[in-house]
This record gives sequence, structure tokens and C-alpha cells, in this order.
Amino acid sequence: MVYPNTFQGFAVQSANTWTRPVRTEYTPRPFEDTDVDIRVVACGVCGSDVHTVTGGWGACPYPLVVGHEIVGNVVRVGYKITTGLKLGDRVGVGAQAFACLQCKQCKSDNEVYCKHQLDTYGATFPGGFVSQGGYASHVRVHEYFVFPIPDGLETASAAPMLCAGATAFSPLYRNGACPGKKVGVVGIGGIGHFAILFGKALGAEIWAISRSNAKREDALKLGVDGYIATQEKDWTAPHTMTFDLIINCANSSKNFNLDDYLSLLDVNGKFVNVGLPEGDGFTIRPFNMMRNAAFFGFSHIASRKEILYMLNLAAEKGIKPWVETLPVGEEGCSTALRRCHENDVRYRLTLVDYENAFD
Ligand SMILES: [Zn+2]
Ligand SMILES: [Zn+2]
Repeated sequence: MVYPNTFQGFAVQSANTWTRPVRTEYTPRPFEDTDVDIRVVACGVCGSDVHTVTGGWGACPYPLVVGHEIVGNVVRVGYKITTGLKLGDRVGVGAQAFACLQCKQCKSDNEVYCKHQLDTYGATFPGGFVSQGGYASHVRVHEYFVFPIPDGLETASAAPMLCAGATAFSPLYRNGACPGKKVGVVGIGGIGHFAILFGKALGAEIWAISRSNAKREDALKLGVDGYIATQEKDWTAPHTMTFDLIINCANSSKNFNLDDYLSLLDVNGKFVNVGLPEGDGFTIRPFNMMRNAAFFGFSHIASRKEILYMLNLAAEKGIKPWVETLPVGEEGCSTALRRCHENDVRYRLTLVDYENAFD
């Protein structure tokens, strides 16, 4: 039995065996009139996939197929869909697969923050079905969370935009990254490299902020206007109160002196975090924040409206993320998860060759 009755995917079986995903067949939740079925052709590999299957973010429902940077073709549409998707359309799905679409947050393009939001994988849907991600032959998703991919974007490049790209884009867009604004990007990894690309595409002056000079060359190739290494003595001095916005994409808060970073902000400047670093988190000192009336906040993925805008901007500006591809399969998924765990990626991996893995 395969599609439409069952899907196939590469599922992690337990926290102890997360490096060995196994080909698995499973029954998706019942098809609703507002759903879309997608035959997957590529899926990006996200740090969240690793945090989830290793149990690093807490209990996870095994066996689990992860992957929430999905690109594929529409193979079935419910008769009540209103977004105009058609069979064969190339589409993307990110980290969110459901929201109520009725509440105040949903109605103001903040469905990411809906109380009823459900994740693309590992979330329990009505009837007890656990959502499964894109290391799989197919996914079934509510149409609102399915985004047409513009023709100009390559599939392997579009995939990581659906989570990493969106996560970087939303706080830039919402907090006014545009010509005349000076924006810092802390942490040059998968999300940080997108923050540089999208910050430049929005017209802002972009500075990479990293511990050492190891990523200087990469950052310059990505198009930054300046580079700051925080290992250097008195590194804040030349930049005090000059930044309008700082996006923190660092995946660790260890030895992170927040006050140094906040001192870079101009009056009412914002420091926005997109990561969920493990460890003790940050120490806020009111006296230091009052010096420049700074804001400290967080941001989570992006709304449908923002993702559609981002994809079109990427196509229009010819944005090229740094993406390496790996063939999907037990071995490919294992390699991808391990390399992501070891931070051995510059700057994103996309699983491809789905037609060979699933006939
Ligand atoms: Zn992700
Ligand atoms: Zn809602």
C-alpha cells in the first residue's frame, strides 16, 4: 500500500537511535476539504530536526519523520480550497501546518502565534494523528500553509527558505530593515546567512557580528557591509549606539555578554532573538537597557504573508543561499542529521533525489 492510502518516510525510532532513520510506511490523518497533498521533491535539513529527534527539546513522539523545509508538487486538492492551488503546482511548506485562522492573531497575519498552531511534524492533530514531515514521499497540509514557489527559484535553494529563510526574514521585515538602517546579524550559520542575504535584499546596511574572524571571508562573499569580531579588545567602542536593529541567530548563550550587544543599539534600537539556545539564557540589567531605551525580544518563524513576500523577493533579487544537496534515503537522512548536529554545514543542506527513493 502506498499513496494515497499510506505515505512513506524515513523515521527516527528513538532518542538513542536518532542517527539511524528507518524507511517506514504510515497512514496520514484523514484528508479534509481544505487540505492539499504534496508529493515531496526536496526538503531542507533544519537544526530543529536534530533538537527534536535527539530529545534535546523534550519528549518527542517516535517513530517520527522530521523535515519542515518542504518543496514538492501538488497531487490532490480539497474541493473547498480558496488559495487557487492546482494539481502539479510547485509549492513549499514550512514549520507550521495548522492554526485556527479565526482568532485575533490569525486575523492579523500572526497565525504563527495562534494558540492552536500545530507544527509540520510531531504535533498531535484531532483523532490522535501525529504530523510527519518532509523526509517522506508525501505530506498532507492545510492549504493556508502551502506556498507557491516562484519560477525563478531553484528547488534546492527554495527549500531552506521555508524555515531558516523565513525565520531570518520575519524579524528583519517587521522591524524595519530598509535603506538607511544599520542592522547587525549575530551568529553566521544557517539562519544568520539568510539574515545577511535578506537584509541586503531589503536594502539595509548589514554587519556580521561573530566571535572570531573565521567567517569573515564568507560574510563578505554574502555581501555584508562590515564585520565585527567580538574576540577583539574593545570591539564595541567604534559601534556604540549606531545600530537600529540586531538579529541574534547564535545557537548558544554561553559566555554571551548581552550588555555589550545592547550597547551597540541606537535609541529605541531592537535586539531580536530567533534562536532557542540551550543553557541559562540571558541576564537583563535594567540600568543598561535604559541608557539607550533599547528593546529586547524574540521572533518565531514567519507568517504566510511574510513567506509569500520573501519568496517573491528572493526570486526577484536572484538570492542564492549556500546550499549543499544530499540524496534522500536512510543513509542520506542519517548523514544530514549528523552533519547538522556537528555544525558541519555551510550553510544549509537540502535532501533531493526523491524520485529515486520513492517510486
Ligand atoms: Zn526549522
Ligand atoms: Zn488562531
